[in-house]
Amino acid sequence: MDMQTELINLKGVGNVVAERLASAGLVTVGDLLAYYPRRYDDYSHVTAIAQLRPGLVTLKAHFSEIKERRVRRGLHITEAVANDDSGRVRVIWFNQPYRAKNIQAGKPYYISGEFGLQQQRLQIVNPSIELVNDEAVQVGTRIVPTYRETGHLNSTLLRKLILQVQPVMKTLPETLPSWLIEQAGLVSRADAITHIHLPSSSDALQAARERLGFEELFVVMMAAQANRDQAIRTEALAVPFNKEIALDFVTHLPFTLTDAQRKTIWQIYKDIAQTEPMNRLVEGDVGSGKTVIAAMAALMVAEAGLQVAFIAPTELLAQQHADTIAKVFAHSPLKNKIALLTGGVKTSQKKLIKEKLKDNRIQILIGTHALLQESVDWHRLGLVIIDEQHRFGVAQRQKLFSAAGHMPHILCLTATPIPRSLALTVYGELDISIIDQAPSTRAGVDTTIVSPNSTAQMYHAIQQQLTEGRQAYIVCPLINESDVLQVASAEKTYQEISKKQLKGWRVGLLHGRLKADEKDAVMRAFANHELDVLVATTVIEVGVDVANASVMVIQSADRFGLAQLHQLRGRVGRAEHRGHCYLVMSDSQAPSKRMRAIAETANGFALAELDLEIRGPGAIYGTRQHGTLDLRIAKLTDAALIAKARVAVQSFITRGEDLLQYKQIAAEVQRASKLTYLN
Ligand code: ADP
Ligand code: MG
Repeated sequence: MDMQTELINLKGVGNVVAERLASAGLVTVGDLLAYYPRRYDDYSHVTAIAQLRPGLVTLKAHFSEIKERRVRRGLHITEAVANDDSGRVRVIWFNQPYRAKNIQAGKPYYISGEFGLQQQRLQIVNPSIELVNDEAVQVGTRIVPTYRETGHLNSTLLRKLILQVQPVMKTLPETLPSWLIEQAGLVSRADAITHIHLPSSSDALQAARERLGFEELFVVMMAAQANRDQAIRTEALAVPFNKEIALDFVTHLPFTLTDAQRKTIWQIYKDIAQTEPMNRLVEGDVGSGKTVIAAMAALMVAEAGLQVAFIAPTELLAQQHADTIAKVFAHSPLKNKIALLTGGVKTSQKKLIKEKLKDNRIQILIGTHALLQESVDWHRLGLVIIDEQHRFGVAQRQKLFSAAGHMPHILCLTATPIPRSLALTVYGELDISIIDQAPSTRAGVDTTIVSPNSTAQMYHAIQQQLTEGRQAYIVCPLINESDVLQVASAEKTYQEISKKQLKGWRVGLLHGRLKADEKDAVMRAFANHELDVLVATTVIEVGVDVANASVMVIQSADRFGLAQLHQLRGRVGRAEHRGHCYLVMSDSQAPSKRMRAIAETANGFALAELDLEIRGPGAIYGTRQHGTLDLRIAKLTDAALIAKARVAVQSFITRGEDLLQYKQIAAEVQRASKLTYLN
């Protein structure tokens, strides 16, 4: 038996089971070994029921009074009583309808889960249970892995198979250099895989997790390094720094730059003066003033006779940037060398713009991503600025390189606060500037948590703001009722508030199902104050700047990630009008720690760190991007392990090691280097 052996050859795997395994992606022994447990239950510390304290507990008890009921549509409850010699405790499972059927009353079980006060009762909620005489539970250890159970696959089956493939685990070849394993104090790969599936003790499990987590981080960081090396091998056009030009621009601004802005632009000027291509990410909270930084970068590049592409995520934002850029260049001869190229531009006009780009009569071109698809014949493209994006993919960079004949400098701007640990790993190929200071002219935002049953006061406050000439956003998480999550729907909210709470005001509706031009039309109407209230899904999240808007209502706010809430909140309070953000909860229970955190904290970075800790990277980047961060064991909150992997990557490089000598790692690095496009 080896890694390639098909699982159908194992004892207890017939055609039916093999098919079930295959539908979870498990065909070979290798697949099975790579299917790490989702969690572990430590049955080595059993507590007597009479001694239970709130928290994670394990009991050895039998069940009685097993009952099930449906409370309302979509909510199924299984209840039972667990009994041991010392006492009884209630156990409850939500939406696990198979429980009642499977439990064998009177038989002894290990019961492991969270014990605490729920709905005014002390009980254990959603515990995992194992029959005490389950053979796989008895083997060697009482730390029992639970696997992700899909369809008819269950952990008992997977544990039995794992026992059979034990001989293969023991002989797994090493993937990392031996000096590195020694330096980092890791266990062998064979040991790690063995103990991740069959931990003999919690220390052995910890060592296995450390080894496998380390390897994941090492791969991601090597991939970032490879991308960086590749980018550095290309050449960009150097843009000489001209102090007079920068000073002249700054004196014409209607405000003074913050120190953070000054530091950032200085760094950019230093970068672009080199022929090594800049690949810099500027992170700054919403309203921290990133656009003027983009403008100043464009200024120096254009003054050097080169061209700039400024790419916004939507047409509306492209328009907005074009307006801003025109304003800040009003005193400069460059003002005649700026153009906006979007889908709305007429073909004849487009043709003219392209001609002017070819002979450098246009030097600053603003548009959306479509601009990169256009066959634009640049004269000399020196800089590409990408707004509201964390990073520009390797493939896209390569494409620009072929189009321009050299590598343009690249500047990404984002309002997503990226925690340091994440920046060091997946963003290792970027240089990062952080604008951690808001212009003092911002009025700021008050944040209030609102129970869904008492919104009257909130609507009263909104009316007042509208009467004073302000505008309001109302954000709903979903478009219609079809979603199982019973969250407020944008359409319904729109109907309701137009007829009731905000009757008489001009209300608009914006959601992702509208066509791009319809969306733009609604957004424009709001920007021009032809609408007082905008009911919207999260499509408004990015970048839009309507200075007159002062109210942000977020329905079912508890369903959003903190970073997302923070971004939404940043849409108001940008100018001289104080912003008011209302977080309406989806139910009337006491608000969670996360919700209290957002109400109490104005710092986007602190919130991002907290979100990363509580909900993982998906919370910050959205589920769509989550998969690209293929970390199954390593946690981005584990600073020590990240530091260790960084040291290892450095050592690997300074030793002149050849990655290709380590075939498996090399293949993973290659895969990861293609995945690192997070937008
Ligand atoms: P974001 O970082 O969210 O993209 P913007 O660049 O849109 O922010 O800037 C928000 C507003 O703040 C704009 O109206 C801009 O003119 C203004 N602004 C930028 N920098 C400063 C500053 N240093 N002092 C005062 N206002 C500023
Ligand atoms: Mg912006």
